[in-house]
Amino acid sequence: MSQPLLGMGLPALEAWAKQHGQAAFRGRQLHDWLYAKGARQLADVSVLPKGFREQMAGQPPDGSLDWMGRSRELHRSVARDGTTKLLLGTHDGLSIETVGIPAEGRLTVCVSSQVGCPMACRFCATGKGGLQRSLAVHEIVDQVLSVREVMEQRPSHVVFMGMGEPLLNIEAVLDAIQCLCTDLGMAQRQITVSTVGVPRTLPRLAELALERLGRAQFTLAVSLHAPDQRLREELIPTAHAYPIEALLDDCRRYVAITGRRVSFEYILLGGLNDQPRHAAALAQLLRGFQSHVNLIPYNPIEEEEFQRPTPAAVDGFRRALQERHVAVSVRASRGLDADAACGQLRRRLEGSLEPVLAR
Ligand code: SAH
Repeated sequence: MSQPLLGMGLPALEAWAKQHGQAAFRGRQLHDWLYAKGARQLADVSVLPKGFREQMAGQPPDGSLDWMGRSRELHRSVARDGTTKLLLGTHDGLSIETVGIPAEGRLTVCVSSQVGCPMACRFCATGKGGLQRSLAVHEIVDQVLSVREVMEQRPSHVVFMGMGEPLLNIEAVLDAIQCLCTDLGMAQRQITVSTVGVPRTLPRLAELALERLGRAQFTLAVSLHAPDQRLREELIPTAHAYPIEALLDDCRRYVAITGRRVSFEYILLGGLNDQPRHAAALAQLLRGFQSHVNLIPYNPIEEEEFQRPTPAAVDGFRRALQERHVAVSVRASRGLDADAACGQLRRRLEGSLEPVLAR
């Protein structure tokens, strides 16, 4: 089965060149054009023989528009603070969101791991539409290249916090991390994988990471969102199949296997889980666990089901954790005017994009 070139490392590209009757050094050229130059089509790689490019252009690989494996930009939305949200079109007419977030010399790319998501968290715009499919390695790496191209800046950080549940697409996520580090020169420590928790997958993620990447240095962020099982299930219906104690046990196993600290994400929903008693219960739950809590004030989506927390509630929650010696930070809301909440842009544009997607 033929597959697109994006996502392949140097040895695979050299083998591909040879398989197609070219000298091995063509593989190195392809590597340079794919990753350093960001070429979008094989036809654009002007150092390759013209006849070869023309011959290959007529036969794109399975699951791709062109041999290079790049997506099409369907829409771009830029917020006043520079946060840039891209809607990218896949070969099979689906769309995914990717966000570039510039801050203090950094450029963080928030990538999607799936088209849609099956986890159905009640506060999440992506969860409302269900899952279409998982993304392939080239479709994940393409998002980082697309942000680099549009923002004319090298991404320094990648967070798997866009659409989808990365732990339902572990192998492609790890292969994409491998490619970002080996072929784009990023550091594993600048990459974060965020999960809401899928039973029995965290130890597997740890083991597969060691096996495939040689070490697991990326950050694991777990979307906890509640200090107890009852409240967690209310917000995340799929948590029903994964008791909070079992999730924390799996986090401890992850730490034991990788030697890395885990961070917990906690969305603050006004009046629901943002009270001092919730903070006290959370501190109790995480007692003795080497971890970090990242508070995320809720970003309202169209359905007015939840409230944004008041600034006083956010501050009170943070202080209540600090007083109990829990390491905590508050995520600043970025690019609110660019439909910042995950999955929101795609939902807003759904109707108007149909003609573009059908092309
Ligand atoms: N499925 C993974 C990664 C995607 S979501 C996960 O759940 O972790 C990335 C983060 O954004 C999660 O912590 C998620 O709970 C949060 N999130 C989703 N919708 C949000 C919203 N409307 N406001 C604030 N954070 C949101």
